[in-house]
Amino acid sequence: MANPSLLILPGDGIGPEVMAEVRKIINWYGAKRGVTFDVSEGLVGGCAYDKYGTPLHDDTMARAQEVDAVLLGAVGGPQYDTLDFSLKPERGLLRLRKEMDLYANLRPAQCFDALADFSSLKKEVVAGLDIMIVRELTSGVYFGEPRGIFPDNEGGRVGINTQRYTTNEIRRVARSAFELARRRNNKVCSMEKANVMESGVLWREEVQWVHDHEYPDVALSHMYADNGAMQLVRWPKQFDVIVTDNLFGDVLSDCAAMLTGSLGMLPSASLGAPMANGRPKALYEPVHGSAPDIAGTGKANPIACILSFAMALRYSFDMGAEAARVENAVQKVLADGLRTADLMGPQDGTPISTTEMGDAIVAALNASL
Ligand code: NAD
Repeated sequence: MANPSLLILPGDGIGPEVMAEVRKIINWYGAKRGVTFDVSEGLVGGCAYDKYGTPLHDDTMARAQEVDAVLLGAVGGPQYDTLDFSLKPERGLLRLRKEMDLYANLRPAQCFDALADFSSLKKEVVAGLDIMIVRELTSGVYFGEPRGIFPDNEGGRVGINTQRYTTNEIRRVARSAFELARRRNNKVCSMEKANVMESGVLWREEVQWVHDHEYPDVALSHMYADNGAMQLVRWPKQFDVIVTDNLFGDVLSDCAAMLTGSLGMLPSASLGAPMANGRPKALYEPVHGSAPDIAGTGKANPIACILSFAMALRYSFDMGAEAARVENAVQKVLADGLRTADLMGPQDGTPISTTEMGDAIVAALNASL
């Protein structure tokens, strides 16, 4: 069988710094586990604009469509703030998501024991937390027409956005959530506002339909999204997989993410339809941005990007045990007290650098053999 293929797009700011640490893990798999990835690298965001005058070159886009998975660092920086909207670094990322039709955004909220004190919630509420939010990413109110700001009949203006979902759009993201639940604790909670929105009624009915016809073995519950927000901060461990629309998912996934502490710890995956080889179209990236304030200082935490690679092992390459190996290595390094600056208070001693964190995780991987 051909080697699994990866397109690496480090991007801007700390993107290349954290991706260099992921490269160490990828190389470790070649050297120590006999898993060799065919890795190609490209430009996205501001660095692509600097070289090609566009935040994503057509050749890079075409390559992204061919590979098994894309791994992205981060894009953006203040030097690009004045560019035309169509040329901004973020447009490169949006183009990737749109043309690959990545409709399911997976955002795990996992609390590593060693960081339980770091959450804004009580330790017992977050210790051992492991939930997954699946957000619909390509439809809903961010895309629905009509949209715009128009004059109204009273001499003022009216701002309009349209929440719109089709049966197909709801069913496909629901399937993603049920598939995930089967690999985890077999529970899905679907969130909408069926009490006040027709699109929410349809959402609830279609998720229920997919459950009844295709995944009756998975436990399904429904919750209004406002209650969901409360439950997430009250007792998040009641959840396994949460599936929700684009707007509610945007808010709920950020809320859930902060249960676990730092932005430097948060991975994500965006998945689309299966390709000919059965693997889903996939883009893996840390949740954080390019952090221009610390770029070049060696302070960036590479763990979010490394955990994004672990998600690729699990969801693109069906290597769940190896994904757990990487996650356990991160767990061990944190338990040993090693921290980058973002995971420390001012009184907490000396932080380690980006490269030292990568090296420590590789050492923990070696120790796992
Ligand atoms: P950011 O995520 O880059 O940074 C927010 C804060 O978190 C900063 O103080 C930063 O130093 C810190 N931080 C982020 N990642 C960290 C890490 N791995 N280790 C340690 N500290 C970390 O968000 P921002 O400052 O709002 O945006 C900066 C740039 O990134 C902007 O150009 C923005 O448009 C872009 N951005 C890109 C993405 C993406 O590529 N997906 C996401 C968000 C923001």
